[in-house]
Amino acid sequence: MQEARSEKRSQYSYPLVLCYHAVIDGRPPLDDFCFLPRSNFRAQIRFLSLIGARVLSVEEAVRRTRDGTLPPRSVVVTFDDGFKNNIDVALPVLTKAGMPATIYVNTAFTDTAKSTWASRLTFALSNTEKSSLSFHGEEFDLSSPAARVETKKTLSAFIKENMAGEPWTALDEIEASLDVEVDPDFPSDSIFRMLGADQIREASDAGHVSFAAHTRRHPIVSALDDDALLEEIDGSIKDIERITGRPTASFAFPNGRQEDFDDRSLTLLADRGIDIALTTSAPNRFSTEDPVQVGRFVVGSRLPLAGFASRVLHAFWKLR
Ligand SMILES: [Zn+2]
Repeated sequence: MQEARSEKRSQYSYPLVLCYHAVIDGRPPLDDFCFLPRSNFRAQIRFLSLIGARVLSVEEAVRRTRDGTLPPRSVVVTFDDGFKNNIDVALPVLTKAGMPATIYVNTAFTDTAKSTWASRLTFALSNTEKSSLSFHGEEFDLSSPAARVETKKTLSAFIKENMAGEPWTALDEIEASLDVEVDPDFPSDSIFRMLGADQIREASDAGHVSFAAHTRRHPIVSALDDDALLEEIDGSIKDIERITGRPTASFAFPNGRQEDFDDRSLTLLADRGIDIALTTSAPNRFSTEDPVQVGRFVVGSRLPLAGFASRVLHAFWKLR
């Protein structure tokens, strides 16, 4: 009762929604924004506990935002893409802290040993013996680890800009030019390995974490024609609901900037009963459309704990 009353008096009106990708032991083969070391993740979760953050599921956070009962310092934890390490490495940390999370899965990879085009790019660039790459009339330097990281950033931006609807075709080309395996299988202990259906079902049944869709193969959906849009969005929602046996209420857009989705995808989500669309726009006040668009703070692997702490505290102040 006491708690209910103090929650009613909350001065904070919006949750801070965090977006993670992979959480791994050690370091990735090439420096990568999306691969956060376990020790950093554990320190961030401990910080949230210490400051009394209330970690809610995305559905509860949105519902309580709408009815004005959101507790102070509300946080939502999300993971994009569906890496196997979300369950193997991150989940034990969250379970120990009693925090729920939602994992947004690229469902084309469940029950395969394949991975996203971004993982394939990192893997190919770190494994090739070549010292340069020719791609679309440009030469890219691969002569040092730093040069490979730079090349990865440039190629990734080029692919998102020019081949956003089917980025995996660019990877077939790049892997072949680099003399590495095209569309390789990743072993089950690889940091690039994605979640299997059994693992998703088991974790969903255990109730510590929930699952929702993030398209099937991670294209930028604004670049898709209507048929491909249906296949990627509707297909992935159906995949998740079939695997978990539960309806889903939210969806996360790949890449997630405002230009990465459009009215067609919002209408499709609304038609499927999805009323929460997660983006990577800055954490902000919710949109008034249906589905509600929820911005997120994307937590990068290079952010030190002090930076994480100040971003969180700043957001608590800003999201009042
Ligand atoms: Zn993603």
